[in-house]
Amino acid sequence: MNTNLMQSVKVLKGIGDETAELLADMNIVTIKDLLEHFPYRYEDYRLRDLADVKHDERITVEGKVHSEPSLARFGKNKSRMTVRLLVGRYLVQAIIFNQPYLKGKIKISETVTVTGKWDQHRMAITVSEMHFGENRAGKMFEPVYALRGSLTMKSMRKYIAQAFNLYGKDIEETLPEGLIAKYRLPDRRDALKIMHFPDLPEDVKKARRRFVYEEFLAFQLKMQALRKLEREQSPGIVQNYDLAKLKAFIDALPFPLTGAQKRVVNEILTDMKSPYRMNRLLQGDVGSGKTVVAAIGLYASVTSGRQGALMVPTEILAEQHAASLKELFGPNGVRCELLTSSVKGKARKEILAALAAGEVDILIGTHALIQEEVAFHRLGFVITDEQHRFGVEQRRVLREKGENPDVLFMTATPIPRTLAITVFGEMDVSVIDEMPAGRKTIETYWAREDMLDRVLAFMEKELRKGRQAYVICPLIEESDKLDVQNAIDVHASLTHYFQDRFTAGLMHGRLHSSEKEEVMRAFAANEIQVLVSTTVVEVGVNVPNATVMVIYDAERFGLAQLHQLRGRVGRGSDQSYCILLAEPKSEVGKERMKIMTETNDGFVVSEKDLELRGPGDFFGKKQSGIPDFKVADMVHDYRALETAREDAAKLVQSRAFWESPEYASLREGLIEAGILTGEKLD
Ligand code: ADP
Ligand code: MG
Repeated sequence: MNTNLMQSVKVLKGIGDETAELLADMNIVTIKDLLEHFPYRYEDYRLRDLADVKHDERITVEGKVHSEPSLARFGKNKSRMTVRLLVGRYLVQAIIFNQPYLKGKIKISETVTVTGKWDQHRMAITVSEMHFGENRAGKMFEPVYALRGSLTMKSMRKYIAQAFNLYGKDIEETLPEGLIAKYRLPDRRDALKIMHFPDLPEDVKKARRRFVYEEFLAFQLKMQALRKLEREQSPGIVQNYDLAKLKAFIDALPFPLTGAQKRVVNEILTDMKSPYRMNRLLQGDVGSGKTVVAAIGLYASVTSGRQGALMVPTEILAEQHAASLKELFGPNGVRCELLTSSVKGKARKEILAALAAGEVDILIGTHALIQEEVAFHRLGFVITDEQHRFGVEQRRVLREKGENPDVLFMTATPIPRTLAITVFGEMDVSVIDEMPAGRKTIETYWAREDMLDRVLAFMEKELRKGRQAYVICPLIEESDKLDVQNAIDVHASLTHYFQDRFTAGLMHGRLHSSEKEEVMRAFAANEIQVLVSTTVVEVGVNVPNATVMVIYDAERFGLAQLHQLRGRVGRGSDQSYCILLAEPKSEVGKERMKIMTETNDGFVVSEKDLELRGPGDFFGKKQSGIPDFKVADMVHDYRALETAREDAAKLVQSRAFWESPEYASLREGLIEAGILTGEKLD
């Protein structure tokens, strides 16, 4: 790294301790940091024709003053001035806040240039900058930077210009020539110059493309290098499964595997046979048939003389998985056992002893599986379901219960590909993107709250046919702050509404686990027809006779979560329905409800959710593991992300990457991240 660029920003004229501190707040310490403080947008001062502009756009127009300005003052320092301007053939209203002193300067028939936000409906512009006379002097296209405290845009522009003039010559290329030529990218110095001092928007596009690729490549190289090192440093076990037995098991299933299931099974088996430890994420929408894939993997491990473990987040889910696996394995001699905190005393001791002796082939359970007392005889394959609900630590403990067992993470939360390769970039990803044949799609409707009567009437119609319904509410109890329906209230009013015709049950997270189980049992046995619940039923619950899902305050849920909830119905042979009760306030809120009614495909839902909410909100900010890119945007630049991933994967496999000077600067990134030591690797 060039030492000039590593100097403190204080070497620049005008930057003293105080300014340096403000800059440091934004992680700008060195000249290099300052030069890489990219504009987050550009102010375009080129004059626009009002015929071409869209509502809410920021624009600059030139016009003739057509009326005396009228000024209204309110409060101590607040004012609002309006003045009519003739812009081309349009008469528009210019609105200027808190600059009363301009009143005397605005003269009828004179020309002014204004910049601001355009309101198409009112034919008005909210002015943020105003210049008297034609054509403002200076640049037509200027960078806008993030600022802190007393920093001004003008001084930030000056610091950056100064830094570039003094040290621009020291900027070095970081990408290898081959890739620059391949993608026709501008070199680093030119690109930096254009980002800060562009003439035209088109130029910025080209320069930006370079930095997007550079950021993604650096990030993906870290992921791919980690993946490679992890593989090489934790040799796995070669599992010589019995193919004939596996085939017989698959043939005996009550249904043929879908194409996607077959593909994914092959990916898993290839990993198991390889000397590397499997580290794979299996994604598949609700109902896509992950359980049977898991069963085949577990069975493969059993036929190679090892044990398998399946860890799930809740007891209900553990019980259901245990039941379906026992059914799938039926009479073929594989012993499956369930271990949760409810399995106690003698039964527990027996299971633990049989497990340690290697008599239990497959153990299914909650995090009870990772307690110290649980010892496997020879653990070969570990699956965690709904893996994002477990912490990294819990996953590690389970993995260490065997000697380098193969590990599969399963999730029914469809993660958009862009996010999957970002957050889980160091894993291999398998996707079941096909539903078993003959599935009915769930009909989804969005209803306003004033349509509740009709919704209830519809529910009653279904209940009369012998079906059951879920009613989901966002909170347990009434909260002062949030005006939301709560499960307890809704339960009371539905009990009243259905009188003695149908029974409503209540389920929420504050119930004791034995109470929860009793409610679930009663619902599964159809002793309860309507289950009013918070989102605790989200994962895994399987009651095929339930055909109606009503969700209160649906706008409060994420789309991925709504999709999960919807997946509780549509599990039997009857047509199922999902009704979203929602009063979204914003356009985005309305758009989200519409998406739910238009598609049943979890991947489409999650892609849209990502587009609308952005990557930070998708997983919840804290645990997302998504890096802060300076220029790149994972959603909009996803093609570049994919390209960078492919390139990174190829690079880490090549000898040149680890040895040739051409790649030194990329390797430096890995050293900085602590992935590599400074020494030369073999
Ligand atoms: P999920 O991916 O949500 O865990 P499951 O594994 O629970 O899905 O499967 C949902 C249902 O689909 C189960 O009843 C299962 O038996 C059935 N199923 C799985 N694979 C197939 C298939 N290839 N053809 C038909 N039905 C299948
Ligand atoms: Mg499942």
